Amino acid sequence: MNKRIDIASLIRPELLDIKAYSSARDEFSTEEEMIFLDANENPFNTKLNRYPDPYQSKLKSRISELKNVDSKNIVLGNGSDEIIDLLIRLFCVPYTDKIMTFPPTYGMYKVTADLNAIGIQEVLLDENFQLKVDEILERITKETKLIFFCSPNNPSGNTLYREDVIRILHQFDGIVVIDEAYSDFSTESSFSELVEDYNNLVVMQTFSKAYGLAGARLGMCFTNPFIVDYLNKIKPPYNVNSLSQNIALEKLSSIEKVESQIKSIISERIKLEGDLKHIDWITHIYPSQANFLLVKVDDANKRYKQFLDHRIVVRNRTTQPNCENCLRFTIGTPEENSTFLETIKTF
Ligand SMILES: *Cc1c(COP(=O)(O)O)cnc(C)c1O
Repeated sequence: MNKRIDIASLIRPELLDIKAYSSARDEFSTEEEMIFLDANENPFNTKLNRYPDPYQSKLKSRISELKNVDSKNIVLGNGSDEIIDLLIRLFCVPYTDKIMTFPPTYGMYKVTADLNAIGIQEVLLDENFQLKVDEILERITKETKLIFFCSPNNPSGNTLYREDVIRILHQFDGIVVIDEAYSDFSTESSFSELVEDYNNLVVMQTFSKAYGLAGARLGMCFTNPFIVDYLNKIKPPYNVNSLSQNIALEKLSSIEKVESQIKSIISERIKLEGDLKHIDWITHIYPSQANFLLVKVDDANKRYKQFLDHRIVVRNRTTQPNCENCLRFTIGTPEENSTFLETIKTF
């Protein structure tokens, strides 16, 4: 399969000819042995006196090996949240264009659309938290510029059926974004392997979940070089600071540690799923491919407060569509999970 649409025709017209801010570190990287008198930095070394690499080339080349995606297909952001914002601002004309999302899902798509005066078309997931493909295809209009899939989905935990996503990827001549924040916990393969095949595909991942770097704010975006170029033009020049770039490189140099944490989290999730089946006020446990479990309980508000009384914070999702009386539990350390389970048994 090889889908090629005219991406330029989707970009906001006023951004087509935008010239990126040309930063000093754009022209000369501090990797080279030179005397740097170009960026008005303080010359005395504090490890942070120089501006960071605006294109994070070292980090991208490590990510490239790890994810099997070419560096020219990668954009890094100040969290995936920044990538969501950049995509909306690149493609959507305020007060005119729309994004499409599938609740219950990650809240930042809507917040970011609202913030940018972009409309939102919501097509609820079905009762198994899968896509209603026919309804989605019917609802698409020429103002629909971006579709945000989340797989594994937050807060439900399941992956979307691959053939459903592919069907829409084929039929929709706008940009399809797949948010894979939890893909490291999933047995499904990443859609990143398809970015060469579909030039309207954007895949997002993050260092915030499996990699244990939520505080560093580092999100990844995999897409075709044309979109990469435009994202680079509109992003703040130094959007990923040196501390975050370095700590991510450090993390990637001991990837076995991350892998063993992921294994532990998955096996704890499976164990907890089994244990929760014996709790009579938990009426349903949704299948999860993520580092959390969504469960239906008898009374979410009551149980939520009960947890808080025991100094345990969970996420109450009861107001979300199809999530009535649902709580979301993140998988903790083995010690935290056993305390959690012991506490639940006392309710
Ligand atoms: C946690 C999460 C993110 C992470 O965003 P960052 O800005 O990279 O921390 C993105 N998408 C979803 C669905 C999430 O749950």
